[in-house]
Amino acid sequence: MPVPKERKATIMANQNNIPYKIYLEESEMPKYWYNVRADMKNKPAPLLNPGTHEPMTAQELAGVFCDELIAQELDNDTREYPIPREIADFYKMYRPSPLVRAYCLEEKLQTPAKIYYKFEGNNTSGSHKLNSAIAQAYYAKKQGLKGVTTETGAGQWGTALSMACSYFDLDCKVFMVKVSYEQKPFRREVMRTYGASVTPSPSDTTEVGRKILAEHPGTTGSLGCAISEAVEVAVTNPGYRYVLGSVLNQVLLHQSVIGMETKIALDKYGVRPDIIIGCAGGGSNLGGLIAPFMGEKLRGEADYRIIAVEPSSCPSFTRGVYAYDFCDTGMICPLAKMYTLGSNFIPAPNHAGGLRYHGMSPILSQLYDDGYMEAVSVPQTKVFEAAEQFARVEGILPAPESSHAIRVAIDEALKCKETGEEKTIIFGLTGTGYFDMVAYEKYHEGKMDDYIPTDEELAKFAATLPKF
Ligand SMILES: *Cc1c(COP(=O)(O)O)cnc(C)c1O
Repeated sequence: MPVPKERKATIMANQNNIPYKIYLEESEMPKYWYNVRADMKNKPAPLLNPGTHEPMTAQELAGVFCDELIAQELDNDTREYPIPREIADFYKMYRPSPLVRAYCLEEKLQTPAKIYYKFEGNNTSGSHKLNSAIAQAYYAKKQGLKGVTTETGAGQWGTALSMACSYFDLDCKVFMVKVSYEQKPFRREVMRTYGASVTPSPSDTTEVGRKILAEHPGTTGSLGCAISEAVEVAVTNPGYRYVLGSVLNQVLLHQSVIGMETKIALDKYGVRPDIIIGCAGGGSNLGGLIAPFMGEKLRGEADYRIIAVEPSSCPSFTRGVYAYDFCDTGMICPLAKMYTLGSNFIPAPNHAGGLRYHGMSPILSQLYDDGYMEAVSVPQTKVFEAAEQFARVEGILPAPESSHAIRVAIDEALKCKETGEEKTIIFGLTGTGYFDMVAYEKYHEGKMDDYIPTDEELAKFAATLPKF
């Protein structure tokens, strides 16, 4: 691709001594995860026992989750968690992730805005999920467990967890939504390469799976059903626990490594962001990216515009309700207070599998409700348009989920073009899209639609929220 002279000049001149790609030195790497809850005046609401509606105790959670992860989940006060050496060593294999100045995109858009992205796709699993997978596998190993169980929809979480488990020599049982198991054989094989067993869900290997199969023969499964199977296997097999890749407080804690690296890099070069943007499925990458910036905002030390981006087909923040709801369709998990569309909500089959969750992180839900962040929803054809525009100038082939953030970063940069403002925009580029080429194909062939649920449909699901 020929590079116009002016652009090359900008990159090469390196005017403010800021590298085109900022990588931290090993000695500059974050030493701890930052727990944003410590600085929140209004703490996220506690998980409730679905039977008694009382806050879940560590003891009640102990059959399902690893002990140290439970402690992290329930800890609203400890500000800093030192990153254990074993995890820091693993992070060295693919971190720091680069913070890249999108000069080529800026030039393409002819915007005065400065755009940066933090790229989390630089590892084999292809997304930020590995940051928490390795932490969860570490605590499971430390507890002397044999293995962990989980569910995966699109497959990113299952892939990340398989890698993490093979590193610590833990058994990993993944229940993969049957339709994805059949449609995404390559993801499945990556997981098996890393030693995980992958079972299409619903399966006849669990009681709940057999029940669902008897009631709905021929079903292609759902995330909620896969969660129920994974939890059943964890609680009925000694030496196993269940792990989850998003939504939970502990996952946001681990993902704060993204934001810590970003903050250290920006501070080093004296760059101050005006706008921070991230896609939001269960909220873990966004919660991680914004953590230290949100901390400053909560403590009144700085102000930033923070924008969550979600698909119009699954608009938890922008059109959901803030209420206690089940985390799974099977209604066996604890109740969480969050922005939700209702645990029965089944989003239209959009192509950003990682953003198709009915709820949202309780931490982000509380911050959003308190007015510390904004949210927008975008239709998927607009998302793929942005993905393609980005890929053509910046080179990276983005995941459909990540492209939601690209869409809004471009929109904000175009606003700057109109007003002439030189804002600094940072967005999270959560992963790569090599396993999503069927979605890109649909887009290229004009076969992608933008289904947006009606108010009536959303009201129907909202009416099924648990009442007490
Ligand atoms: C899972 C996933 C997401 C969404 O999950 P969050 O918990 O909201 O971060 C975003 N991007 C990619 C690439 C993913 O795999």
